[in-house]
Amino acid sequence: MTKVIEIKHLRKSFGANEVLKDIDFSVNKGEVVCIIGASGSGKSTLLRCVNLLEEPSGGEIIYNGENILDDKHDIYMYRTRLGMVFQQFNLFNNHNVLANCTVGQMKVLKRSKEEAEKVALKYLSVVGMDAYVNAKPRQLSGGQKQRVAIARALSMEPDVMLFDEPTSALDPEMVGEVLKVMKELAESGLTMLVVTHEMGFAREVADRVVFMDNGVIVEEGHPEKIFNDPSHERTREFLKRVL
Ligand code: ADP
Ligand code: MG
Repeated sequence: MTKVIEIKHLRKSFGANEVLKDIDFSVNKGEVVCIIGASGSGKSTLLRCVNLLEEPSGGEIIYNGENILDDKHDIYMYRTRLGMVFQQFNLFNNHNVLANCTVGQMKVLKRSKEEAEKVALKYLSVVGMDAYVNAKPRQLSGGQKQRVAIARALSMEPDVMLFDEPTSALDPEMVGEVLKVMKELAESGLTMLVVTHEMGFAREVADRVVFMDNGVIVEEGHPEKIFNDPSHERTREFLKRVL
């Protein structure tokens, strides 16, 4: 199996607070990995270190066989290869839906407007938002906004998509439409790393579930194993609380 990203001995501290402690894990091509764990366990920080929104305090991030934390490495190039979807959508509110999905392509990938719009329309139709190209974010529901945010990230055609609790800010009735899109993406073979509270999604869609607690990976494995027969007491306790 080809590893898209491999994390070795990753550490992150905020002052004296060590939030990630010696994290080792990898994401294989085409794999869907879900990260679960209590609030404050370090899930977002891990994702933010992977795409370098936070600077790791130590360790390695291996991408295409190279440690991208090496001084000589082109971090900018690396970051364009990762798509990120946030809890709060982070759409450009002054741009319409189509422009939200084209500006990054034109600026970063130097695609022409025509080409960028073609690509954007393809992914807007994947998420079922192609009828809304002229809408402004404020005219959309939360679920629609998040689907546009997913299309925007996909338009960059990244090697891996990172999702940080993409449904946590949504009204309950809108969670399903976003999870449905994510499930379809997973089935299409997209490589995905998903932090989620949606245990049903993790169980059904993940190839591998990673349970984090207090800055460490306590255990990881097939969803059936993690949910039905976890090896660690901490995992059992967490699942008892959330299931
Ligand atoms: P999770 O996503 O699992 O809820 P986080 O990664 O957001 O956890 O947070 C883990 C810990 O790191 C928390 O104790 C949080 O307060 C701390 N933390 C996260 N981001 C920062 C930051 N920018 N500055 C200081 N502390 C932070
Ligand atoms: Mg978080």
